[in-house]
Formats: sequence, structure tokens, C-alpha cells
Amino acid sequence: MMPALASYAATEATSKGRAFSEPAPQHRNQYQRDRDRIIHSAAFRRLEYKTQVFVNHEGDMFRTRLTHSIEVAQIGRTIARALDLNEDLTEAICLAHDLGHTPFGHAGQDRLNLCMKDHGGFEHNLQSLRVVDVLEEKYADFRGLNLMYETREGILKHCSRSKALELGELGRRFLEGKQPGLEAQVANMADEIAYNNHDVDDGLRAGLISVDQLLASRLFDMQRRSVSAKWRDLTEKPMAHETIRRMINFLVSDLVNTSRQNISHNGPVNIEMVRGLNKPLICFSDEVYELQFELKRFLRVNLYQHDKVKQMTDKAREIIQTLFDAYMHDADLLPSETRTRSDRDHENSGISGRARVVADYIAGMTDRFAIAEYERVRKA
Ligand code: MG
Repeated sequence: MMPALASYAATEATSKGRAFSEPAPQHRNQYQRDRDRIIHSAAFRRLEYKTQVFVNHEGDMFRTRLTHSIEVAQIGRTIARALDLNEDLTEAICLAHDLGHTPFGHAGQDRLNLCMKDHGGFEHNLQSLRVVDVLEEKYADFRGLNLMYETREGILKHCSRSKALELGELGRRFLEGKQPGLEAQVANMADEIAYNNHDVDDGLRAGLISVDQLLASRLFDMQRRSVSAKWRDLTEKPMAHETIRRMINFLVSDLVNTSRQNISHNGPVNIEMVRGLNKPLICFSDEVYELQFELKRFLRVNLYQHDKVKQMTDKAREIIQTLFDAYMHDADLLPSETRTRSDRDHENSGISGRARVVADYIAGMTDRFAIAEYERVRKA
């Protein structure tokens, strides 16, 4: 049984429903059905072989987008339950939030956006929505996964103004500076908490950042001290883990407490009132926001811009660009189904139609498949 939900939580009763109406599920609720459809999607399975920060084949001990998404869902569910929000919806959004990510993390996505600059661009949040709305083709009655409005609302975390204009009701909040439901806000913050902390963990284990460097982050330093005060002779591995689990707990606790205060201060009685606000209600206190921001900056300078990570991202850009140019230049390099679609869309919407099919194809690739394709098209 689900615990009783707060009046401002998303519920089936107040839901804007599915684009294509379907009979209600029998043994689960509508948001559990969404979660299950996401887990059974091809895009979800491919997350296993997509980079978070480290290229998938660099080692088996680093996060991939799949394990990242599972960690986001774990953190998101805890927060949702603590705030009497809809845990199933939160889980569905968290598991789906990165479905549109290209191979090779942010470097891949930025380069694909550049490749697409004359063809409408490439935005990974919008691509996640595109995956669940259009690209997953396996149901007989509808295109995509036909998810609930609230799940789609949560997946679309960011969106440019021009794209928002094309999205109708779902895009309106980006034009009006309004908010999504609280479950979407929780998923967004759970993503932040998850990746900052697991990047510290992966960065340490990869030897790209050191504990001494990390002491410059007050958030890390504070928790590290509390661990050393409790256990004097702890070896490095449990020391790191004990520190990181305390960081996560500290952030989650602050987020839950601050959000609770925000909710009681603003007093929304339903999800529409949440959506009508100008600011999110799910946030850190000002002090903890600062600490979290400091850690993010630390990671940007010391990890994401580390020479070793940069070598990988330079290579990633070259791979994405080469693939895009090759497929645009010679459609015979595409698999036959994709080729047929690219010819059809070229005919219907010109060269940008073809480019979109190519971008969808590249975005769906795993790291290792992209690398193998890169070798193949260079020989062609
Ligand atoms: Mg993420």
C-alpha cells in the first residue's frame, strides 16, 4: 500500500492523463505502469553502456548512466516519501531522466547540438521526451510509451523557448516561468545529489582527484572530520564511503527540511497551485546550496576538466562529428530501416528532416557501438 499522499502530490485523480487513452492497469497504478514501461524500453537497457563521466569501457567499477539513474531513483524515492509525494511517479521520472543522453556524456551531447545547429539543435532533455513520446516503437496502439502527462512533465527538465513554443501545454511553463509538480522537482534535485556524490567517489577511485584536494570542499571536509572523529584507524576505502554516504544524507536531510518549510510557507493545496508558483519549492537552504555549489565547482575544475577526462571528451567530439558527417554524406552507411526513414523525412522536411533522423540514430548509440561505427565509417 502506498502511504497517504499530501494534497499537493500528483495523483491519478488530478492527472492530465495519457495522450492515447487506455484501460486502467489491473495490479498496479498508472505511474507504476509508466515506470515499468520505462524499464522495459530499449533506451533504458542501453543506459548500461553509456558514459556518465568515464567512458564505459575504461573500467567496470565506474558509474554508467544506468547505475546513475538507479541511484537517482533511490534518492528521489526517499525524498518523495518523506514529503508524502507520489513515490511511483518520482521513480518513473528518475529512471527516465537520462534516456535521451548521447554516448560519451556531455561532450557527446554538446557536439551533437553543434552538428544540428542549422537543423533545430539537439537538447538532451527534449531528446529524453522524444524517446518516450516517439522513438520507442513497439506498442500496437500508439507511438512511444504513451506515458502520463506528469511523467512527461518531469522528464522535460529544461527546454529552449523556441522548442517550448512547439510543445503546447507541456512547454508552457518554460515560457511563463512556472514550475512542474513537486515530484518533477524532487527528481531534478535527486539527480544533482546523486551525480555530485558519485562523481567524487568515481573520481577518487580513478585517482583523478585526491582526498587532500577534496578537503577544499567544505561539504566533504565537514563529513570527513566527523568520520575521522568516530573511527581513528579507518582505511581509505571505508573512509571515503563513510564520508560520501554522510554527504548524501546531509544534503537529503537539508533538502527535505527546507522543502517542508517552503511547502508550509506557501501552502499549496493541490498540484495546480504548485505549478502556478514562480519558484520551485523543493530546494536546499541557502547555506547548503552554497556548499553544494562549491562542490560542483570543485568537480568542474578538478575532475571534468582533468587532462585525462579531457582527452576522452576530445575523442568523443571527434567520433560524434565524424559519424554525423559520414551519415549525412552517405546514407548507405545507415542501417536499412534508419535509411528508409531518413529518405522519407528528407523528402517531407528537407535536409533538416534527414539530419534529425541521423541525430536520433547517433543519440541512441552506446559508447562502444559509436566507437565501432567510427572505425567502420572511417574505412568506408
Ligand atoms: Mg542525470
